[in-house]
Amino acid sequence: ERNRGFFQARGLLVLNFLSSPGSGKTSFIREAVRALQPKLKAGVIVGDLATDNDAQRLRESGAPVVQITTGTVCHLEAEMVARALKQIDLNGLNLLIIENVGNLVCPASFDLGEDLRIVLLSVTEGEDKPLKYPPMFQSADAVIISKIDLAEACGYDRETALANIRRVAPRAQVFETSAKTGQGMDAWCRFIAQQQQQRSSSTSA
Ligand code: MG
Ligand code: ZN
Repeated sequence: ERNRGFFQARGLLVLNFLSSPGSGKTSFIREAVRALQPKLKAGVIVGDLATDNDAQRLRESGAPVVQITTGTVCHLEAEMVARALKQIDLNGLNLLIIENVGNLVCPASFDLGEDLRIVLLSVTEGEDKPLKYPPMFQSADAVIISKIDLAEACGYDRETALANIRRVAPRAQVFETSAKTGQGMDAWCRFIAQQQQQRSSSTSA
């Protein structure tokens, strides 16, 4: 709640990105941050058990990035985010993206104070992930199907994947994207810009 109040007071739209490891969170965020500029200026907080590899990749977008290394902890907690916020200059930013630890189970149970939960499902993972890991998908405000450029090579069954997402997360908006080719990025950027506008108008009201 303290994080949420802090974000609201600053008019920051905050996204919590969740998925299994290797679904393409980091690449998606890097490309999304680039595509949203200059309209939206983002900062990124990224969590992993070890290394700052993802922070380095995310910095290629030009955004300020803070890496949290969790050691043995398999999810981010609100307190870790609060500490990381002290290392980031939020002036001029209107979007904060949190890349959670890759894990489809327990990060779902930890509220970081975010506005929206974004869950990625890559076409390489299998269409039944939403059925196998329902809490994660149930908590999603938006689901991003990533690596859509690999769909054919993976024998991805689009209708089944969409039906499974709808079954578990009927209200989530679904975006089919490729960070590599840019497919679906426009629709995603429009959605986020609209969400940010709502946030800033509710802050000034
Ligand atoms: Mg990553
Ligand atoms: Zn955990």
